[in-house]
Amino acid sequence: MYFDTIIKGGRVFSSEGSFRADVGIRGDKVMDLGRTLKSSKPANIIDATGKFIFPGAVDTHVHFQMLQGGVRTADDFENGSKAAACGGVTTFIDFAQQVPGYSLSSALDHRIFEAEDRACIDFGFHMVITDWKQRTRSEIEKIVSRGVVSFKVFTAYKEEGLQIDDGVLHNLLDETAGCGGTVMLHAENGDLIESLTEEMKKEASYRDLGAYALARARPAVAEAEAVSRAIKWAQVTGGHLHLAHISTMDAVQEIARAKNNGCIVTAETCPHYLLMTEEHLLRKNGHLFATCPPLRTKKDSQRLWKGLKEGTIDILCTDHCTFTRRQKDKWKGEFTKLRYGLPGVETLVPITYTEAVGGKRMTISKWVSLVSTNPAKLAGLYPRKGAILPGSDADLIIFDPRAKARISVKRLQTNVDWYPFARFKLKGAIEMVFSRGELVAENGRYVGPEGRGRFLKRKPRGK
Ligand SMILES: [Zn+2]
Repeated sequence: MYFDTIIKGGRVFSSEGSFRADVGIRGDKVMDLGRTLKSSKPANIIDATGKFIFPGAVDTHVHFQMLQGGVRTADDFENGSKAAACGGVTTFIDFAQQVPGYSLSSALDHRIFEAEDRACIDFGFHMVITDWKQRTRSEIEKIVSRGVVSFKVFTAYKEEGLQIDDGVLHNLLDETAGCGGTVMLHAENGDLIESLTEEMKKEASYRDLGAYALARARPAVAEAEAVSRAIKWAQVTGGHLHLAHISTMDAVQEIARAKNNGCIVTAETCPHYLLMTEEHLLRKNGHLFATCPPLRTKKDSQRLWKGLKEGTIDILCTDHCTFTRRQKDKWKGEFTKLRYGLPGVETLVPITYTEAVGGKRMTISKWVSLVSTNPAKLAGLYPRKGAILPGSDADLIIFDPRAKARISVKRLQTNVDWYPFARFKLKGAIEMVFSRGELVAENGRYVGPEGRGRFLKRKPRGK
């Protein structure tokens, strides 16, 4: 047997455990794993003695090249995907948003066109539905057959034209249940948020709250209530409900209960909800930390960690959405004009490894399941992604567990001039990142060819 590359002597991790093995790569696939692999032809040999080999992370929630209120995010597909690669993320799933009055297919075509030849790692899309009617409904199966198996909707953002009602959510769950699709939900009670915002604006003193007003206008109960209502519809339809960016302990409780009752519900959370609290919004530059749902309390973070450990929360992802200081500064003290979103794709792996494994919250394998295997499975990409197995895409990370580093805004690839986790102390460091057998990042620098990423057709559930 011959290989193009052999990664020798490392410890290979999966969601199940770890073992010492050489990894033999041919073309874009993992060909073999073994104690001492030899190639019948000359191969590129990489010495990984003392290193950990992880499957590349799969970030199922990013926003590259997105418009928010007419303002474009700082990271486009090219730079965003390079940042991802530098941070050990080898697959990302972004969003294609339906233009009201138009088909889902046209939105998907447009988004694939934008990302193709620009994205540097493999990618997929969730389909955002903004205009639910018979024509949209009849398109669901076709979109699933095109490899887009998840449909994102919102129970908030009425003004932006995104908020759906219970009838639509019910029908969408019902429709997707039949073809193995998933409904991904941004769960916040939009009507409650709207009413609290209006009430708050009646009192002139709300401006004194600064960015913290966001936490008042979008309280924990807005999330928990929307989650529990959506779970009801998942229960009666038998559809798969995936809850995006869960931030509160009450929502975690609801999800735990639903899972115990056999409801097909899964959930994700993001590093910012685990590592930061609403007190960041009280800071002088608190507006930089605005995101939706907003940052919560220490108690919420603790329950989220527990949820990850016990399996109530299935995925760690980032909701990466970048705005520069200048873009964020435009709010001028008016919380309804805050620019929402935090960067994260480049630091998902190093930060969550440090906190989860270094912080002794869980085993390395459990952490691998959260950043790679589970998201790949839920996205319909496993075992092509999310595993180091013969036949899998050779997407992997060579990680030095003994290294120490600090996050430095200047050294990051991502196009922001500030960072929520600046100066964060890291345990371990990513040395090399491979995508389909190709070295794409080394010591935090992108070294791969341009625009090499491919659109991934994902499999529906149970297929
Ligand atoms: Zn998002």
